[in-house]
Amino acid sequence: MRTLACGKVQDMKIIMLGAPGAGKGTQAKRIAEKFGVPHISTGDIFRANIKNGTDLGKEAKKYMDEGQLVPDELTVRILLDRVKDKDCEKGYVLDGFPRTIPQAEVLDSELKKLGEKVDYAIDVDVPDENIIHRMSGRRACLKCGATYHLEYLKPAKEGICDKCGSELVLRDDDKPETVKKRLTVYHEQTQPLIDYYKKAEVLHSVDGTKEPDQVFEAIVEILK
Ligand code: AMP
Repeated sequence: MRTLACGKVQDMKIIMLGAPGAGKGTQAKRIAEKFGVPHISTGDIFRANIKNGTDLGKEAKKYMDEGQLVPDELTVRILLDRVKDKDCEKGYVLDGFPRTIPQAEVLDSELKKLGEKVDYAIDVDVPDENIIHRMSGRRACLKCGATYHLEYLKPAKEGICDKCGSELVLRDDDKPETVKKRLTVYHEQTQPLIDYYKKAEVLHSVDGTKEPDQVFEAIVEILK
């Protein structure tokens, strides 16, 4: 929830939709910072588990390396655990969840039990051709999760994370053959969520081909 200047309280449960590489992660982080709510990325949670060698990480990696979705049962469990944390009381920005209709349905039914709902679903819209070009230039820090781009978002020192000084890499799941698979999976399993949230009257689309600052401005207008 957010207290507006007029004293009214506004809920801030936000879902970011969009193909992998559409820039929803970058925007989600900025929204979280501006509105003071946590940024929750299921992809980051899985990657942290892979790095720490947990059983969850080992299981998730099998799917992630193939460009496939981690099964709903596993994903829903980690997400529901995370949103129970105290820092989520005032809302959150979900980045990469839900990715299937069953995931959205579980989230809705859990929120309903609390008398709550998803307030905004923001679709960052980018055509597939742009996505393939963008993702092959993406570089990530596996230590702190920061992402960069060889053309659009360069780190101060080539190949090194600005935030923690670790080496930047092309994530296995950003490699071109995996990206193509991820786009197919996106169109088949995740895109139907656009209609799902349209029906729930919480869908807003922004043109994700614009500069990140312009995309963010458009999102802030929606959330105002
Ligand atoms: P991301 O960083 O959001 O692009 O996620 C990277 C990978 O993690 C995806 O390609 C999936 O394999 C897995 N993943 C992340 N979020 C989900 C989700 N909500 N459902 C299933 N798999 C997911």
